[in-house]
Amino acid sequence: MNRTLFEKIAAREIPAQIIYEDDSVLAFRDIAPQAPVHILVIPRRPLARMAAAQPADQPLLGHLLLTAAKIAAQQGLDSSGYRLVINNGPDGGESVPHLHCHILGGRKMQWPPG
Ligand code: AMP
Repeated sequence: MNRTLFEKIAAREIPAQIIYEDDSVLAFRDIAPQAPVHILVIPRRPLARMAAAQPADQPLLGHLLLTAAKIAAQQGLDSSGYRLVINNGPDGGESVPHLHCHILGGRKMQWPPG
């Protein structure tokens, strides 16, 4: 089976600015930042997207979101605020089929999103 781009980043086969990792998740800076802070948090396991998640993935998904909040705080974004984004499928704007939560901060976000 083909491994995803993000699996290769987790395996250090493709370079990335990794800023956090533990047994189940990894965080690294987005290669094309859309805000002063733009970090992706991924599960090590290549769960493709939220639509593929199962009830058994609940602890992993909870850990992913709590880790995103912890990293946002470490980046100094708590008081200014930030946005967490998970794109799902073609209409959602997903381009890498390996679940990832975007942390976007350091500027005022717009609503509605494009
Ligand atoms: P999405 O469009 O939600 O699937 O997000 C995929 C994200 O991965 C985009 O924001 C890309 O800029 C980012 N990306 C693609 N390749 C790399 C890479 N090699 N290192 C870091 N981020 C990447």
